[in-house]
Amino acid sequence: MKTLAALREKGHILHERLIQKILDLPGVVVTAKEQPDSCEICQGPMRVQKTFRHEGRTIAHGTFQVHETIWVCAAKCRHRSGKLVTQRANSVVQCIMPNGITGYDLMVSVGCKRYLDHLQREEIRAQLREKHAIAISSGEVTRLERCFLDYLTRLHHSRADQLKAALHNEGGWPMHVDATGDHGQGTLFVVMAGWKKWVLGSWKIATERCELILPCLQDVVRRFGSPCAAMRDMGRAVTPAIDALVIQLGIDIPVLACHQHFLADIGKDLLEPPHSELRGLFSRTKVRPKLRSLVRDLGRKIGEQIDQARKAVQQWQSMAEANHSLPAGRDGLAVVRAMGPVDAGLQGRRNRPRLSFRPTLFGPLQQVYNRTASH
Ligand SMILES: [Zn+2]
Repeated sequence: MKTLAALREKGHILHERLIQKILDLPGVVVTAKEQPDSCEICQGPMRVQKTFRHEGRTIAHGTFQVHETIWVCAAKCRHRSGKLVTQRANSVVQCIMPNGITGYDLMVSVGCKRYLDHLQREEIRAQLREKHAIAISSGEVTRLERCFLDYLTRLHHSRADQLKAALHNEGGWPMHVDATGDHGQGTLFVVMAGWKKWVLGSWKIATERCELILPCLQDVVRRFGSPCAAMRDMGRAVTPAIDALVIQLGIDIPVLACHQHFLADIGKDLLEPPHSELRGLFSRTKVRPKLRSLVRDLGRKIGEQIDQARKAVQQWQSMAEANHSLPAGRDGLAVVRAMGPVDAGLQGRRNRPRLSFRPTLFGPLQQVYNRTASH
């Protein structure tokens, strides 16, 4: 066992050294001078305008220097804007984004790590360094994340016709709309195709108001066609917005209020008195500081295994059996710890499922309810 551990350790050290060596390479220089066929305006020949050297960074090639040739129309044709007709080397244009040195594949990789794997900037930087020997700053990671969203939006819009056809083939699409507050940073408004569960549009709006929501709905309908039904909450903004949309489109479709929002609304009225009594009891008995210190003690017991503990809590939350009880041992401690006061739980990661006091307790209940409601 000792030998095996030593071998693995050796392997890690070698790997780290190799990555460092690749990072230390002064930069391989490649030449890109393919001559383009002809000028796109006069069809005449192109000649060399200039050559210049710049850096390139892609997942496929790593970090390198490229000696690139720019071609210009021999007859000096100009675009309508007045700019000369020029062309860069195809091999460069196809892998590196305009006005920069970054490859499309690197931007996509950063975007997927951020939005699909929910990694933080520093985690993304570490992965790029360890797996691909590419070093980029955290500012660059942020820029690429935004760039990825821009391209994704453009792709989404440019494929609207295909998406629309797919929705039509399913027999239409029920328009599900909802908005979530983002702690004083405006509201995220989302329109989803109910059966496919595809998000067709999402917007950051200042406040949930009818006149802000209606243009979003119109935009979605313009791209993806009229919905076959609408599902909304009972909000003061969404209700008139959907009504106005239906009137404008001149269609006769069922407009439904979401069952879950409906129950939550009734639940608030029914449960508010006992809930505030419970809140009062908590503050009278000063139970929160005690819970906090319990959470800290449990945290110390879990120690290094915090990642496993997080997974155990999420696994427990996703269960919905009749005898839903606490798991044994360390996982049980982790679940109890996650139920503790918000500021001492398993938080600290932005855009991750939050485990706060009430959602933790209500999560499994909610799922039991969802199951019974769907039968
Ligand atoms: Zn020309």
